[in-house]
Amino acid sequence: MSEELENKFLELCAKYPAGLNQQMMEMGLGHKMEDVAKVINNLLKQGRLLIHQNPDETTSYREVNPEDQMKFRGLGAEDFLIYQLIETSGNNGAWTRELKQQSGYQQVQITKILKILENRKLIKAVKSIQSGRKKVYMLYNMEPSRDVTGGTLYGGDQSYDHQYIQIMKMHIKTFVENKGAVDLSDIMTYLRKVAEEATSQSLGPEDIQALVNTVIYDGDIEEMRDTRMGALMGRRSGILYKPTKTSIPVNNFCNMPCGNCPVFEICSDDGIISPKKCVYFQQFLDQTDDLDF
Ligand code: SF4
Repeated sequence: MSEELENKFLELCAKYPAGLNQQMMEMGLGHKMEDVAKVINNLLKQGRLLIHQNPDETTSYREVNPEDQMKFRGLGAEDFLIYQLIETSGNNGAWTRELKQQSGYQQVQITKILKILENRKLIKAVKSIQSGRKKVYMLYNMEPSRDVTGGTLYGGDQSYDHQYIQIMKMHIKTFVENKGAVDLSDIMTYLRKVAEEATSQSLGPEDIQALVNTVIYDGDIEEMRDTRMGALMGRRSGILYKPTKTSIPVNNFCNMPCGNCPVFEICSDDGIISPKKCVYFQQFLDQTDDLDF
């Protein structure tokens, strides 16, 4: 009898992949709810069923894929709730603080549950570029959103990938030098091809514009007005990029260590801290010995 009910229950789960609620069970199974509850408890213990707490306070159930059943086996209701909250957060992930607020559990309990779910490879922690690279939690197979990773210009540890940025900047500079004058869409087409060949990642328009801007700030390319017909008709951005004619002179005063020195205020000629005794200042003078100011 219970095996027959279990099969009927799982068939009904397959019919409603988004979740099976009490009303569906009552109508679809035609059995007493005490018997159904026994089947549910049994399936939960075996890791074959996922509980979902709906916003209207009702509960629904979903069958777990056979390959994931081992991962869910033996989890308690608290573990399932945290898993569900993380699942709901999607590819933006959930902060520990949010999990605490939404579940009402203590921090210690949440930390313990997160460890269990991480060890079972049901969730993963991802450093988010928002809020100082704090960790957010998302389902193990979820691809983090661009808001979390920062896009292609960030490395795996969510800090700027300086080497990658330098290579892409060099490509932009060389491309503009070779072509003479190009607009952003030309740079995009070229750079996306290069980026995909090099890393199989694709650069977004914001990434490319940010890179182009840094090449401008470096003084390697500059903007000019696009007077071609397409631009005048509003079908192009109206801006072209060309190699710069003016090279930006290096200002060695910018490299002085005093500019961001934490003891600048108490540094004086005759003080305990003074330029005469300062190793950083001496290093700066050594580097600039041969240069004119
Ligand atoms: S001389 Fe040295 S200690 Fe004094 S302000 Fe400059 S960096 Fe700081």
